[in-house]
Amino acid sequence: MSKIALLGSTGSVGSQTLDVVRSYRDSVKPVILGASKPSEKLKNQVLEFQPEYVYIHSFNEDRFYGSKVINESNIEDILNVDVDLYINAISGIDGIKPTYLILNADKKLATANKESIICLGEMLKDKIKTVIPIDSEHSAIYQILKQENKCVDKIILTASGGPFLHKPLEEFQNITVDDALNHPKWSMGKKITVDSATLMNKGFEVLEAYYLFGYDYDKIDVIIHPESIIHGMVEFCDGTVISNMSCPDMRIPISYAIFGERKFLDIKPLKLYEIGSLTFYKPDYEKFPLLKLAIECGKLAGSYPIVLTVADEIAVNLFLEGKIRFTDINKFIIKSIENIKIPLPSDINELLSVIESLKSKIGYMSV
Ligand code: MN
Repeated sequence: MSKIALLGSTGSVGSQTLDVVRSYRDSVKPVILGASKPSEKLKNQVLEFQPEYVYIHSFNEDRFYGSKVINESNIEDILNVDVDLYINAISGIDGIKPTYLILNADKKLATANKESIICLGEMLKDKIKTVIPIDSEHSAIYQILKQENKCVDKIILTASGGPFLHKPLEEFQNITVDDALNHPKWSMGKKITVDSATLMNKGFEVLEAYYLFGYDYDKIDVIIHPESIIHGMVEFCDGTVISNMSCPDMRIPISYAIFGERKFLDIKPLKLYEIGSLTFYKPDYEKFPLLKLAIECGKLAGSYPIVLTVADEIAVNLFLEGKIRFTDINKFIIKSIENIKIPLPSDINELLSVIESLKSKIGYMSV
């Protein structure tokens, strides 16, 4: 029986993780479920899976429907529970501290939270290479590299291109929140869906790949592939390219992260003759400048990836709240990168306080 701790259980990846667990109750059991706040959804999950512990960021009771409560004040206690695999499915920068604690304690971690990989990348360079990716592109590449990792020339991340791939740039200023949340291929949380519409998500994924796999930026490519059938590719020195294909479904990378091998999943079969053709484009940096900016921040390293991550989260929230326009997201982040210079935090407390001060600094900036 494999015991898992699932942080972010009520989110999109968290719910799909429990779907996988539901099919394999004899071999995997959640011993910790975690969410930012108590909710009806969390209650139902706790009643169904009866974990020994529930981590609720802000909640001060001792018990939540029978499970013992761990909260923000004693979060370190998640490390004292007998757990085989921690899964970080928290959205955004709230995922940073749990990732740090888990890696620093040398526990096994699978993560869908790319913000924590990016912000801790410089601080925990070696430990991050032990993380099992859940992000679909990185899982695809991880699966390929597990079979064959010699003579690698390039790793290639595919991008659906998001909902605005073919929208003329002149119309970008009229993009609404609903337009941005209408992703053509993947159903995900709001933050990552907006990041996918600006292609910032793919920029983050380049940095995530850099820290996870340890290849230089000139060996990491992005290619637009609207059908989202190929999730990742590895190009080898003899010219061979191995790709990982499936109908898009997050349960595949989740299951691979949990079991470390293939397990039966009830996934829509890939019938390539029904799809007919797979198409590919070079990214358009004029329409999607954040992809390029993110890669530049990755190459500059230092604290640039941290400022980028925080600025993006604030900008996306302002957009979702209707306070700025879609096109202001770019401006806001570019301005943050140009104006804010901070030294690289040396430990987690410094990183978390830097993030708090960045939030107040950037939050008051106008576009
Ligand atoms: Mn992804």
